[in-house]
Amino acid sequence: MIIALDGPAASGKGTLARRIARELGYAHLDTGKLYRAVGMAVLRQGGDPSDATAAEAAARALDPDTLDDPELGGDEAAQAASRVSAIPAVRAALLEMQRAFAARLPGAVLDGRDIGTVVCPDADIKLYVIASDEIRAQRRHKELLDRGKASIYARVLQDLKERDARDSARSVAPMKPAEDAMVLDTTALDAEAAYAAAMEYIHIAGTGNPAEQ
Ligand code: C5P
Repeated sequence: MIIALDGPAASGKGTLARRIARELGYAHLDTGKLYRAVGMAVLRQGGDPSDATAAEAAARALDPDTLDDPELGGDEAAQAASRVSAIPAVRAALLEMQRAFAARLPGAVLDGRDIGTVVCPDADIKLYVIASDEIRAQRRHKELLDRGKASIYARVLQDLKERDARDSARSVAPMKPAEDAMVLDTTALDAEAAYAAAMEYIHIAGTGNPAEQ
């Protein structure tokens, strides 16, 4: 059983993916962390995340056991990730790792940008999670402040828009909903309501029956 959750930055897909995985007893992979780790590795070597040779080498050398690094959650990592992720060789280097993860039993939940379109086009469930730019920026801003980081709302909003534009415009595996994905708009939903809507869809799509309440 493979559940794919895609969508733009701070749409709520990560929180949703973690909770769905916990509830169903499935493994969870936040694929953004792979790109963040590659971006940070290039930066730490003093390199440029847009340098295809350096980024590909970092992707090939990536150790999946190092994804707990708290620095991966920061904006520097996010911006670097969005640059390395536009390089086809980087995406190719990370593909098998993601597919192997998706094959875990009894099931796996993967969240990212291209899970339903490229990594797992045959996923059993595909959700594309969206929310307005302003709501996403507010959530991200609050999350940074809660983590004790300095944050300016207008800057967060601008960074999100830039990242989304780059992620949607790239030629390889651009961010977009799979044709058979259910679009879940969380603009007016809190985490609880978004979770309930996602689980209802998973039960309907997975069993053909509405969730038992
Ligand atoms: O999801 P997160 O914000 O951690 O992703 C960071 C960046 O990694 C995204 O902006 C995107 O450029 C890239 N990414 C990607 N494909 C994925 C997951 C993330 O290109 N499946």
